[in-house]
Amino acid sequence: MNLIGKKALITGASRGLGKAIAIKLAELGADIVINDIGNEEEAESVVKEIESLGRNSLFIKADISDFEQAKELVDNALKEIGSIDIVVNNAGITRDNLLLRMSEEDFDSVIDVNLKGVFNITKSILRPILKTRNASIINISSIVGISGNAGQTNYSASKAGVIGFTKSLAKEIAKKNIRVNAIAPGFIETDMTEKLSDDIIESYKSSIPLGRLGTADDIANTVAFLASDISSYITGQVIVVDGGMI
Ligand code: NAP
Repeated sequence: MNLIGKKALITGASRGLGKAIAIKLAELGADIVINDIGNEEEAESVVKEIESLGRNSLFIKADISDFEQAKELVDNALKEIGSIDIVVNNAGITRDNLLLRMSEEDFDSVIDVNLKGVFNITKSILRPILKTRNASIINISSIVGISGNAGQTNYSASKAGVIGFTKSLAKEIAKKNIRVNAIAPGFIETDMTEKLSDDIIESYKSSIPLGRLGTADDIANTVAFLASDISSYITGQVIVVDGGMI
């Protein structure tokens, strides 16, 4: 499996899963545009790591929940690297609370980044990517978008929305040989899950048949598979990567 000659745009890629995905795709031969909302120092160190693998890379700062910024990100990425044939909609946030205590702001901000952000980026790249006649859009959802989770009505709704978006767009653009798939990670060791207490982590582990949390590499490998031509007959799917949890 290789991605030689391919060019990828990955949102939220200065740390966590996005960073692991960026490095993995670069190792397989792709040039990478990474995006993030703020973390310039960390983002530039990811760019350097990718360049040390012999690939081209650049960082473009943008808030993907803002349509104009997302469009500018895509326009600038295309101006710099010419074309994009892999898009990984990875940026995401949580603002967990029981619905009784959840503010409207916490509901809106999660939907705006996790779901509207996927629309903003994908809508902005759509016309140019259709011209490639061979591209892969990969949306990072979550198992809680399938199973639900107490304290995450906002997050679960956003991730379920990403699945519906993925399946619908896959049907719209399959004729142009552009594939759209989602990945639903389970509990993966990143900053997002580091916020959880040890007790909660232990109780999650006991409900995971494979007996461990996932690693960023588990997700990056799945993205690499969906990004590569090896998966050329797969579109409109949700690949659950959760150690058998759901
Ligand atoms: P993370 O470590 O919190 O990283 C999220 C990244 O998204 C950060 O780089 C963050 O930038 C960026 N970001 C946040 N808001 C943004 C915005 N408005 N515009 C552009 N970038 C933005 O999260 P993660 O654990 O790697 O998760 C990555 C994706 O996987 C998310 O969609 C998440 O929902 C999903 N997921 C994660 C898990 C898990 O167990 N970790 C499980 C299921 C699904 P800053 O660094 O500037 O904050």
